[in-house]
Amino acid sequence: MTRKIVHIDMDAFYASVELRENPQLRGLPVVVAWDSIRSVVVAASYEARKYGLRSAMSVRRARELCPHAIYIAPNFMLYREVSRQVRSIFQQYTDRIEPLSLDEAYLDVTTNHKNIASATEVARRIREDIFLQTSLTASAGVAPNKFLAKIASDWNKPNGMCVIPPSKVQLFLQDLPLEKIPGVGRVTLAKFHRLQMKTVGDLRQRSEWELSYHFGRYGRRLYELARGIDLREVDGNQESQQVSTETTFDRDLPFAQLSAPLDAIAQKLWDQLLRKRKFGRTVTLKLKTASFRIVTRSQTYSNPLYSLDDVRQAAAMLLDRIELEKRSMLYRLIGLGVSTFAEVAEDELQMSLL
Ligand SMILES: [Mg+2]
Repeated sequence: MTRKIVHIDMDAFYASVELRENPQLRGLPVVVAWDSIRSVVVAASYEARKYGLRSAMSVRRARELCPHAIYIAPNFMLYREVSRQVRSIFQQYTDRIEPLSLDEAYLDVTTNHKNIASATEVARRIREDIFLQTSLTASAGVAPNKFLAKIASDWNKPNGMCVIPPSKVQLFLQDLPLEKIPGVGRVTLAKFHRLQMKTVGDLRQRSEWELSYHFGRYGRRLYELARGIDLREVDGNQESQQVSTETTFDRDLPFAQLSAPLDAIAQKLWDQLLRKRKFGRTVTLKLKTASFRIVTRSQTYSNPLYSLDDVRQAAAMLLDRIELEKRSMLYRLIGLGVSTFAEVAEDELQMSLL
């Protein structure tokens, strides 16, 4: 049976909430960030984006690009409240909701509480409900799977919607630039270009073997995505979710040289956690030996990890728990993940971020 998946993404969420609260700022470049030279942009209004401002950019850089931007300190208590309000709208339609962050979620509406046959109609009504109840706009993607729904929600942003019916999937993918595939970053994109691939259509020309040769296990996934295949279910169970990152080395490394790459992925993982505003209590370290054996260690703490230092320390302690006999091996990959997410008291969080 074909699934009907909707991906809902609030438009410039934190900045839009601030503009709603401060209507006199409409039309001005507004940046949500702690106004300190050491902090980063949490969100930028569409007006601010015209100057090249982006979330996760340093405030120092943002000030260079747009000196007259208006800074507003984040009010996560409020954003979380609005997020709950939006969540309860989703719940009127389906129980299969997988939030990706405060402002983004996948919904499986194949069957839904209102017995609406058309997923497009469900998405339209949800966007309307969101606007009526919060005065905020959301964009929606409607597609037979998560991969396509996520690309679609970005297609007509802001305040837009894009529907990819099953019969249009191949046509949609044909000329889609490869950087639109969620998860494809600068490095993978450069590799695609070196291999003379620019669009998903180009990707589809390559054999599964060739993609596996160039991209390892990710190659098999690319082979499927190129054909619009993504069997992942909408996971409504928060407990099972994990935010993780991993890196495969250019050449296998001895155990003694793993600290530096571990530190680097701890930083990367922390950036992701911060962006998603997810703070978990369980940390998992994954290593893969040169002979493809997987070694994992994990630890659950009583409190969520609130800072980069917490994540770094937990990671180092897990590395320390690798037995002596495994320390003589060579490793090809290192990964780090956080799970068991908690509702975080915002004041506690803000204290630890400052
Ligand atoms: Mg958003």
